Amino acid sequence: MPEFFVVATPIGNLQDISFRALEALKRADFILCEDTRVSQKLLNHFKISKPLISYHQHSKLAKMELVVGLLKKGKNIALISDAGTPGISDPGNQLIKEIIQVLGESVNIIPIPGPTALATIASVAAISMDKFLFMGFPPQKKRRNNYFKEIVDSKYSVIFYESPYRIIKSLKQLQELDPEIEAIAGRELTKKFETIYRGGIDKVTEKIEKDKIKGEFVVVIRRNKRNGKEK
Ligand code: SAM
Repeated sequence: MPEFFVVATPIGNLQDISFRALEALKRADFILCEDTRVSQKLLNHFKISKPLISYHQHSKLAKMELVVGLLKKGKNIALISDAGTPGISDPGNQLIKEIIQVLGESVNIIPIPGPTALATIASVAAISMDKFLFMGFPPQKKRRNNYFKEIVDSKYSVIFYESPYRIIKSLKQLQELDPEIEAIAGRELTKKFETIYRGGIDKVTEKIEKDKIKGEFVVVIRRNKRNGKEK
């Protein structure tokens, strides 16, 4: 039976790759990835040489048909994203749905768990994370205000992703909606300039603005005391 591996890869530090991830990449006949240049670097580092097929959120139906066709021929395929776990703010689930619809149980879909920015920040949030809400990226234009309002009104702590270019704007928007909230912001996690900012939203925003270092961010907004007693 052909195998379709959904493989988590490092979010920065290459040593975070798992043995199973390497095994799956070696077993695959083809590797589906977002940016072939990014994935080629990862594969070169681990001396894995495989044909790469680009697959991203705007890929056309023809690309899905190509993948399904390869599986039908008995080829093994691994799906990776630029960083972290496929399907978490990254492509994957639509393709898996299509594979299941067309091939049903004649293909083995195998998740290979590993790094994800979401779990990495949750693991060091130092607040109760028994229940939390993950909201992905803020929308860029319309509905931004509703998105941030949902965060400050949430009865659970919320995790969201943000790019280096919009982090300050997003934190300031949250601050305007509720100056009392607390944040834990992880920048460049697992990388050389990893920094974790903790405290009131005003202090965290100020510190990040002052640091002036660009980098990917994942942010936890602590459940607001107004919405329930925080543990
Ligand atoms: N699939 C990925 C995962 O499992 O975390 C997320 C992909 S999403 C397109 C990329 C976003 O994840 C970045 O913009 C940033 O918000 C977050 N992220 C990825 N790597 C990170 C890191 N090393 N430190 C902090 N945030 C990171």
